[in-house]
Amino acid sequence: MTTTPEPPTPVDHLRSPRTRAALRVQNCLVDAAREFLRGEGGTEVRLPVIGPVTDPGARGAKQVDVDYYGKRYRLMTSAILYKQATLATFGSIYTIAPNVRLEPLDTAVTHRHLAEFHQIDVEVADATREDVMRLAQQLVSRVVKECLDRCASELAELGRDLVALAVSGETFDVLPHRRAVAALVDAGHPQDPHAEIDWQGEELLSRRAPRPFFVIDYPKGSRGFYDRESRTEPGVLRNFDLLAPEGYGELASGSERESDYARIVTRMRETGENPAKYGWYLDCVRAGIPASSGFGIGLERLTRYVAGLAAVWQASAYPKVPGVFSP
Ligand code: AMP
Ligand code: MG
Repeated sequence: MTTTPEPPTPVDHLRSPRTRAALRVQNCLVDAAREFLRGEGGTEVRLPVIGPVTDPGARGAKQVDVDYYGKRYRLMTSAILYKQATLATFGSIYTIAPNVRLEPLDTAVTHRHLAEFHQIDVEVADATREDVMRLAQQLVSRVVKECLDRCASELAELGRDLVALAVSGETFDVLPHRRAVAALVDAGHPQDPHAEIDWQGEELLSRRAPRPFFVIDYPKGSRGFYDRESRTEPGVLRNFDLLAPEGYGELASGSERESDYARIVTRMRETGENPAKYGWYLDCVRAGIPASSGFGIGLERLTRYVAGLAAVWQASAYPKVPGVFSP
């Protein structure tokens, strides 16, 4: 990775051969992800872009209101609520969903935040966390391999280090959150043991890693109400992040989901959410949603990693860097 260039004008960005190469890599990633997920029995679905509520788990980011015939609706910050509900129709789903999050201004310099991005979102009924961690590992390995095979000239144009990218067939390491915290504190990075790992901490761990790796067992309070709390280790969530090596940091977040009505309502209250706002979702839960696990991979972040881009905005034709006015 090199230092981050500033976003150029839209015209220069669209005409740049590097943009074309990065978007071709992204196209290959999407094709390969679809082929893989379909092969695993997934049905591709289209989920709402606006709704009465959205994922409250996007800490620090502001949600965007929409006037929907006089009612306040929200642009989706993630598809999580709809993913769980849709399992009433199909047992294994995926979608490529746009998300809008007005991230704080200070994230403009992280090289990895956009105010508008996409997720490859996956949800599987009756799957454990370990089942979908395996699926996420296979998905990333497959799409990387397909890009190496199908996008050799684009990766050459972008100057990607192909040796560092050859992760296919490797087993990704698993690091419990408490060990990640200890490693960071040892390295002189102040990391709150009760919180999400901050982006600088993730970058530090990511730089040391030879291949993508998982961090599991984030503490309760650091994530949304839908991440299932361990029944044997209270306070620990049955969730995970997948981080890329080479300093690229977080690619995906996922978890086993809470599906028990009473526990969801309790978790909503504990996380400061008013259950009354979530009427349609709680109706679905009361009627019975299957236990499930799932994850969302940021498409622009995955593109950044595979294409070896200095900043995530380079993985979008019309990047929205937080606070930068752009089309
Ligand atoms: P989250 O639910 O916040 O973990 O988001 C799921 C995934 O979406 C993350 O693992 C990232 O890959 C991606 N993502 C989240 N926020 C952003 C953002 N502001 N810009 C780009 N990608 C993001
Ligand atoms: Mg996350």
